[in-house]
Amino acid sequence: MPVVWSDRCLLHDPGREIWVGLPTEATEVPARVDRILDTLARPDLLLAEAHGDEILKTVHDEGLLRYLQSAWDEWQASGLPEDPGQSRVVPYIFAHPGLGGPLVEPTAVWAKPGFFAYDTMTLVSEGTWEAARAAVDVALTAADLVREGERVAYACTRPPGHHACYAAYGGSCYLNNAACAAGALDSERVAVLDIDAHQCNGTQQIFAGNSKVIVGSVHVDPRAGWFPHFLGYAHGLGAKNLPLAPGSGDEEWLDAVRSLVTWTRESGATGLVVSLGVDAAAGDPTSPLEVTQEGYREAGAVLGGLGLPTVIVQEGGYDLETIGPLVLETLLGFEEA
Ligand SMILES: [Zn+2]
Repeated sequence: MPVVWSDRCLLHDPGREIWVGLPTEATEVPARVDRILDTLARPDLLLAEAHGDEILKTVHDEGLLRYLQSAWDEWQASGLPEDPGQSRVVPYIFAHPGLGGPLVEPTAVWAKPGFFAYDTMTLVSEGTWEAARAAVDVALTAADLVREGERVAYACTRPPGHHACYAAYGGSCYLNNAACAAGALDSERVAVLDIDAHQCNGTQQIFAGNSKVIVGSVHVDPRAGWFPHFLGYAHGLGAKNLPLAPGSGDEEWLDAVRSLVTWTRESGATGLVVSLGVDAAAGDPTSPLEVTQEGYREAGAVLGGLGLPTVIVQEGGYDLETIGPLVLETLLGFEEA
């Protein structure tokens, strides 16, 4: 299958995450895509083509797009990297709904991130906007290929996108690549099936009530203490959510993938976007699921069995030793179906 990517996706360097107030090592690092591409070893990689903002503006609020585009430059110009010495854009106050309203976009550079970010884990560096925007171009280029007749195309993107909401960013995601791919497919009905270990709260919100795009997700139960915590329960905003207990392995996970596929078939979907996170694999530092490489290969086959025009978009997967083989197995399984 065609593999699309952009070297501009490497420009984002979060440096670290802020978790419970402390800086922790970044997990969403540029080496992730390097490892995937090394494993796929494809000499015929396709470079993403630049696309206009038409679809992006149907997926995201223009205020969020404007902010992300200027966030780093404003932060740097404000002197915050020197005093107090914060080299990344990071919020300290949040536009929480409990404040009442109306909530107004603030003027202070140090307050703005909390108007658009919903966590402290998703830092903005020099190059974040360029990388996130390139990731959208990768997804849209893959969607072009499918629209032009390819059965399937793989968008090797980073930063990931499925936690990015209509007007807010978080969960290491800035722009929702999979949502853009779904918007770009010309199928009458598109299913977005998300097999990342974490529930796709952004994709779910963007397409809530949408008549063209339906969203299904298998993920670790947020009730067990996992991101995105507040969302991802069985009955959420019209999405088909299948939360699994920590420690679930191939059997439970593949049962859920199969039921998402059955649901998709019954829905009459004529196009498919797969949000491919490989962080449900055993050993991934960000989730307690225990899926094997064989499990991912079988998931690829199950999803490929739908026989729909498909864009596969990279989401999570944070173990640098296994991310490449896990993606490769999934793509091989899909092609064998
Ligand atoms: Zn994830």
